[in-house]
Amino acid sequence: MAAHGGPPLRLTETTAGEMREAAATIAKILDLDDEDAAAEAINALLDRYPARPRLERVPERRWSLRATAPHDAPAPWLLSTAALALALWLSERGYCAWGRCAAPGCDRYFVDTGRRSPQRYCSTRCGTRVRVAAHRDRGR
Ligand SMILES: [Zn+2]
Repeated sequence: MAAHGGPPLRLTETTAGEMREAAATIAKILDLDDEDAAAEAINALLDRYPARPRLERVPERRWSLRATAPHDAPAPWLLSTAALALALWLSERGYCAWGRCAAPGCDRYFVDTGRRSPQRYCSTRCGTRVRVAAHRDRGR
């Protein structure tokens, strides 16, 4: 997290619990596919964990927009950073360009960076696995 401008992560039981809660909050937004509901949820998160966006020069990279809200605990930092990132993504794409992997047994989330057909799997590995299984089933 420090590499992404976040506070140093010292994992205590409290921090771990808060991080789990934060991840669940973000997952709830990633489960949404209605852009109005997503915008409302993201705005609520931005109200609660304001992200003070700033352009920062990342070593060996271009200028990068980062949440610099004064959250010195990891969970609020994660929430404000995720809220800012999702807000930017939703406003750029105009719809919920994210989702949960459709492969059986995989519960990963993804951010859909594709420009053509909507993404359904978290990785090409999951997509291939599903296609191979479908092919095998057809062969029976
Ligand atoms: Zn997957």
